[in-house]
Amino acid sequence: MPKLFVIAGHGAGDPGACGNGYTEAERVRVLAKRIKELGGGNVILGDLSRDYYRDNGVSTLNLPGEYEIVELHMDAGVPTARGGHVIIYSGFQADDYDKALADMLADILPGRSQMIVRRDNLANPERAAMRGYGYRLVEFGFITNAEDVKIFNTRMDDIAAGVLAAFGIKAAENKTEENKAGGEDMGCILSVEGTKTQYYFDGKSIHAFTNGKEKSVIKKVCRGIIDSIKLTEDEFKDLKNVLKRS
Ligand SMILES: [Zn+2]
Repeated sequence: MPKLFVIAGHGAGDPGACGNGYTEAERVRVLAKRIKELGGGNVILGDLSRDYYRDNGVSTLNLPGEYEIVELHMDAGVPTARGGHVIIYSGFQADDYDKALADMLADILPGRSQMIVRRDNLANPERAAMRGYGYRLVEFGFITNAEDVKIFNTRMDDIAAGVLAAFGIKAAENKTEENKAGGEDMGCILSVEGTKTQYYFDGKSIHAFTNGKEKSVIKKVCRGIIDSIKLTEDEFKDLKNVLKRS
């Protein structure tokens, strides 16, 4: 089983493609981090502050032989263009990793007629080939297509696990699921019928939000948190009583 070196495309001031309120550089960095989280010690995360295309980073990499490289991008095009695909250097044939990635994309981000494309006019595939690295550049759908962006955002864990699986790396148990089962980050956002205040319940105490920003940050740090549970006044009292006891 190889190990994975993950490069997030663009960055260092280059936003890449933009669409649907997102930039490519930001989205692929979120995905890269998730691949690292789920892949653990089998994944090296490239420096997210760098643009490996512009600073020629692929040419100066020093990776052990067991590493395969995946570079993450999103496409841009007319709003109806959809789907992910895998780009490899023109001089190469697709290997099993490329094919597995293409199968995963055909399943999660379909739309392209050709799932693996050989290109001779992209810098990084050629640089990697010159260095003898196994490399592919993956376009995870179109940032300019609303449906692709929605899939990218809502199925990020499936995509990250799919990338790992293509290289035979098993994704760690989803941390979000673990937390739901009683970890420290277990929690939900609740409100009481007939009132406007919303609360964050972390499993131990209830904390009122004073503004929407606080709610946003809680949702950001507690991935998969359950939102908008409505309690009656009586239920809210009961919950408080239970908490008092401990
Ligand atoms: Zn790109």
